Amino acid sequence: MKTSDIRKAFLDFFASKGHTIVPSSSLVPQGDPTLLFTNAGMNQFKNVFLGLEERSYKRATTAQKCVRAGGKHNDLENVGYTARHHTFFEMLGNFSFGDYFKREAIAYAWELLTEVFKLPPERLWVTVYAEDDEAYRIWAEGIGVPRERIVRIGDNKGARYASDNFWMMGDTGPCGPCTEIFYDHGPEVPGGPPGSPDEDGDRYIEIWNLVFMQYNRDDKGEMHPLPKPSVDTGMGLERIAAVLQGVHSNYEIDLFQRLIAAAMELTGCTDRDQPSLKVLADHIRAASFLIADGVIPGNEGRGYVLRRIIRRAIRHGWKLGVRAPFFHRLVPALVAEMGEAYPELVARQSVIEATLRQEEERFFGTIEHGMSLLETVIAQMQANGQGELDGEIAFKLHDTYGFPLDLTADVLRERGFTVDVAGFDAAMARQKAMARAAGKFKMQAVLEYEGPTTRFEGYETLEDEGEIV
Ligand code: ATP
Ligand code: MG
Ligand code: MG
Ligand code: MG
Repeated sequence: MKTSDIRKAFLDFFASKGHTIVPSSSLVPQGDPTLLFTNAGMNQFKNVFLGLEERSYKRATTAQKCVRAGGKHNDLENVGYTARHHTFFEMLGNFSFGDYFKREAIAYAWELLTEVFKLPPERLWVTVYAEDDEAYRIWAEGIGVPRERIVRIGDNKGARYASDNFWMMGDTGPCGPCTEIFYDHGPEVPGGPPGSPDEDGDRYIEIWNLVFMQYNRDDKGEMHPLPKPSVDTGMGLERIAAVLQGVHSNYEIDLFQRLIAAAMELTGCTDRDQPSLKVLADHIRAASFLIADGVIPGNEGRGYVLRRIIRRAIRHGWKLGVRAPFFHRLVPALVAEMGEAYPELVARQSVIEATLRQEEERFFGTIEHGMSLLETVIAQMQANGQGELDGEIAFKLHDTYGFPLDLTADVLRERGFTVDVAGFDAAMARQKAMARAAGKFKMQAVLEYEGPTTRFEGYETLEDEGEIV
C-alpha cells in the first residue's frame, strides 16, 4: 500500500463510521498563543473539546500536518537518530466530541488495524494508563488481547523517551489518560517492549495513541473535568506506512525513498544509509510546509525554528561535500510526492524555492568560516581530552557565523562532544545587556539631538521561542 493510499483508507474507514472528513489545519495555530506549531490532530478542535465551540458534527477524522520542532513536543534532536521521528509528519486521527468514548474508540482502532490493514494481532502490544482499569478490561476482555501484551504505564514525568500514558497538548489545555498501540518489528531489531528498561530501542514502535480527553489543565496545573468526555486519536502516517510496507524505518517507505533518491542526486552521496540524507529528506518537508503556511526564516519565535531547520539541513549538505546552495532544489521532488494531497505546496512552490534559496545564499556566506573555526576547536579538544565545547565559542559561532546553538551541538554530537549551554547562555545574556546599555545611550543621544527627526532603529533580537511552548 502506498503512503497516499493509506491516508485515504484511514479517512474512508472513519467516514464509513459516521465521521466527517475535516481538512488539515495550518501548521501555524490560529488564535492559540500557547502553541508554537500545530503538533497534533486535536489542536484545531481544542475549543470544541473545551466546550467553547460547537460544530455541526460530533465525529471527525483528519490527516493533520504536524511539526514537532521546538515547543513541548520537540523531536528535532531525534531526526537522523531514530527510525520513527520526523520534524514534520502527518497525524491520522479520529475524534469524538462527547459522542463515543473508550469502548468504541478501542474497537474502531482494532478493527482498522486487524481487519482492514490485516496486521497480525500477535505483533500488536498495547499500553494503558496505570490507573485506567476500564481501558485495561476493554482490551483484555472486550478485544481479547492476551494480558502479557497489555502494559500499564504511569505518567513518567521527566523521562526523555519513556512512555507516558497521560497525554497533554501543552502545559495547559485539554488532556487525559491514553492507551497506545505498538507494533513489534521483530527480534532482529534491538529494543524492549513498552514499559521495559530498554524500550528506547526501535523494535516496538508506537503507532497509535488513543487519548480519552477528560480534563482541562490550567496554568496552575490543576485539572478541571471537561464538559463531555471525548476521544482524540493520533496515528503517525509514516509509521503505519512502514509497518504496512514491511520495512522497519519510516525512512524506508516509498515517499521517503524518493526524497532520499533526490537528495543523493543533488549531493552526489552514494551511500543510501548515510543519516544526513534522512535529515535532508525530513527537513525539506518541514521547511517547505512551514513556508507554505506563511512562516518566514527570522531571528525569533517560529521564524527562528524554521531558520534552524534550514541551517541544519545546509550543514548536513556541507558534511556530504556540497559547497553551494542546493537545498531548494529538493522542492520539486517534494511537490511531486505530496503536492496532490497538499495543493498549497504546488501553489506556493516558487515562494518556497525562493525563500530557501535566499536563506541558503546567506548561510553559505558564513558556513565555511564557521566550520573551519569549529574544526580547529574540535582538533584542540581532541588533543586536550576535553569533552565539552566552551560556551563562548558556541556563542561566537552563533553571533558571527550564524550557527544556531543546536546546529553546533549537532556537529559535536556526531564526534562525541557536548556544548556548555550555560556558558553559551551567559555569553548571550552579556551581549544583550551590552546592547541594551548601548541602546539607552543611543536613545539619550536621539532625545538630545535637535536636528531633523531621526528614527531609532532598535536592535535585532536573537531570542528563541520566548513564551510560546
Ligand atoms: P514517541 O513516543 O514515539 O515519541 P509520542 O508518544 O510522542 O511518540 P504522540 O504525542 O502520542 O507521540 O502522537 C501520536 C502519534 O503520532 C504517535 O503514536 C506516532 O505514531 C506519531 N508521531 C509522534 N511523534 C512523531 C514524530 N516526531 N514523527 C513521526 N510520527 C510521530
Ligand atoms: Mg514523542
Ligand atoms: Mg510515546
Ligand atoms: Mg504517544
